[in-house]
Amino acid sequence: MSARYNFAAGSSEMPAAVLERARTELFARADDDGSTAFERPFTGATFGATLAHARARLKDLLAVPDNYHILFLAGGATQQFSMVPLNLLGNAAHVAYADSGHWSQRAIGEAGRYAAVTIAARYQGERPLAAPPLSPWRLPDDCAYCHITPNETADGIAYPALPDCGAVPLVADATSCLLTAPLDVSRFGLLYAAAQKNLGIAGMTVVIVRDDLLRRPALLVPSSCDYRVQAAQGSRANTPPTIAIVLAGMMFDWIVQQGGLAGMQACGQRKAALLYDAIDTSAGFFRAPVAPGHRSPVNVRFELAYPALTTPFIEYAAQNGLHNLRGHGAFGGVRASLYNAMPEEGLRALIACMADFTRNHG
Ligand code: PMP
Repeated sequence: MSARYNFAAGSSEMPAAVLERARTELFARADDDGSTAFERPFTGATFGATLAHARARLKDLLAVPDNYHILFLAGGATQQFSMVPLNLLGNAAHVAYADSGHWSQRAIGEAGRYAAVTIAARYQGERPLAAPPLSPWRLPDDCAYCHITPNETADGIAYPALPDCGAVPLVADATSCLLTAPLDVSRFGLLYAAAQKNLGIAGMTVVIVRDDLLRRPALLVPSSCDYRVQAAQGSRANTPPTIAIVLAGMMFDWIVQQGGLAGMQACGQRKAALLYDAIDTSAGFFRAPVAPGHRSPVNVRFELAYPALTTPFIEYAAQNGLHNLRGHGAFGGVRASLYNAMPEEGLRALIACMADFTRNHG
């Protein structure tokens, strides 16, 4: 069987080396109590070491400053859409959100259940699509934080740079871009990312939160969802998603072996440039709806000039071992997600397939 590549937006492909490691280590029995990773008490020393390793690796990779807590919490990013306002609103009445497309709109919808939401900036919804302009932003005086989605997984839009929100803490849903490039964590009050893209498997979300934001009085928050409680108890206030944490540690180790975040970024930029170039030089057969400079390097969205050819193209690609290329349900078209684990060969196979399909149908 020829090679197969998985371009899913999430859950997405994991590196073969990590899967291989997981295959042996997850089922290995500990010397002391004979437990496998599936069976360990989360309060015990063995799991404690696993958690500490994952935390230390992530802190190192992102150079997280000492005044930030790294939490490994159960649940997905959607859960954080509520946890963020519940934990950070404090005595403020307002929160600000930049509308950059699908996932930020979902976050805005949830936040509106707890606070008055000001839309700080809006993306360019007319084609070519573009991230919100970086200034001016509307930030009300009494504003607990400003939320952005640096990479819009469904729309395929990425901010070219971070906005300057002054003293207002910047909060980011980095679900589809965390660990794809170096990031200055000190620019943020809080960052969160669900794990099922670049951090391993579904069921866990990493939250990186600045110490001073934990001291604000919270609304009525369930204790398992209270950042202060989870920070004080090292993410072990209740049973954490243990297997997701084991796998996240393996993903972090793998990234270190690949040259860290600078290595991931260089590789990711090369892959994205190859694919966007193939789209842009297809004489209009394929086209990207997002403006250059605002195109996501990890979720490459494109369309066929003849929409009736979309499904035949996706099926042709699947017959050639290239899977899960259908665009997000809200937009249709094609989307190739090129997270860290996608090897350059997968990408080259996709580009070759696009050329073949064009020859057959152009
Ligand atoms: N935010 C972004 C940017 C996402 O890409 C996703 C999932 N695709 C979510 C939030 C929702 O994550 P979850 O399904 O883990 O709740």
